[in-house]
Amino acid sequence: MESTIIDTAVNGQYNNKNLSNFQRKSLAVNAPKYLCDLHVHTTASDGGYTPEEIVRLAVSLGLEAIAITDHDSAASNIAGVKAGEKFGLRVIPGVELTTVEGCHILGYFIQPVESGLYEYLSSLKRQSWTFMCKILERLRSRGLRVTEQELARRTGEGIPNMSHILDVMYARGDLAEPDFDSPAAVSFFGDPDYIVNFFIEFARTRPFIDAAGAIRLILSAGGVPVWAHPLQWCSDIDREELEKLNEEGLVGLEVITPKHGSRARRLLHETCLEFDLIPTGGTDYHGRFFESIEKSRKPGSCGIEPQLLERLEGRALKLQAG
Ligand SMILES: [Zn+2]
Ligand SMILES: [Zn+2]
Repeated sequence: MESTIIDTAVNGQYNNKNLSNFQRKSLAVNAPKYLCDLHVHTTASDGGYTPEEIVRLAVSLGLEAIAITDHDSAASNIAGVKAGEKFGLRVIPGVELTTVEGCHILGYFIQPVESGLYEYLSSLKRQSWTFMCKILERLRSRGLRVTEQELARRTGEGIPNMSHILDVMYARGDLAEPDFDSPAAVSFFGDPDYIVNFFIEFARTRPFIDAAGAIRLILSAGGVPVWAHPLQWCSDIDREELEKLNEEGLVGLEVITPKHGSRARRLLHETCLEFDLIPTGGTDYHGRFFESIEKSRKPGSCGIEPQLLERLEGRALKLQAG
């Protein structure tokens, strides 16, 4: 289904350049609920699509803007922005940083310049490769045929992870389905939570910064920091943590995400008003490999409207002006 949408977009039927928002919405077969989806992953981390494929998909769905927010990688941002210019979609360069506390901090409008953030991401990528080589070795004893070179080709400039291994296995025909919890994948890896456990094991090598540090890194790259899905695992916000992160320069809270029900969204909207934070939103879209979790979720089913994106951009411009 998605590949059909992408193919249609590739054939040029959905080039959105020069269309008004109204036209975008009317053109799309199923109009998106939100015009701006600020949480989309690509192949640079564990997403199933390249930046250009994501852009084409978002255009075909009638979106006006997306933010590329790969886990601990900014490698898809330049290609994403370029594809956005080509196909008529605004692409916000972003990142989603994992922290030692376990929470995720999103960064929007990060600039492609030398900064603490880029140094940190490069070092993380090196550590992840060292760790991944050990994982490959371990999996070879179970019959894995994927070489480091194959994995490197698939990972590109991104940060290697289990989705990349899955993708190479699928491309080679070693797995029949591109889904991380297909019976064949689970039986090969011998662990139903192997993707989560990979991250837990990598986290034990203590590669990640703390949340306050993540905020400082995003600010160092001219970006605006937003706490991602703060109520995914708990019913009330940790006010002490929020006050601390707010002091560090937090700009927003992700509110409209599939990980929050209506109560959580209401609560976080109130918190945003109280702390003068900007409420953001996005689908946390990964595409292929996560179909069993995302259940045909499409970009634009969660997100924000353009006015809020303007507010966010206003804060970024202010920060970048120093
Ligand atoms: Zn996250
Ligand atoms: Zn995410």
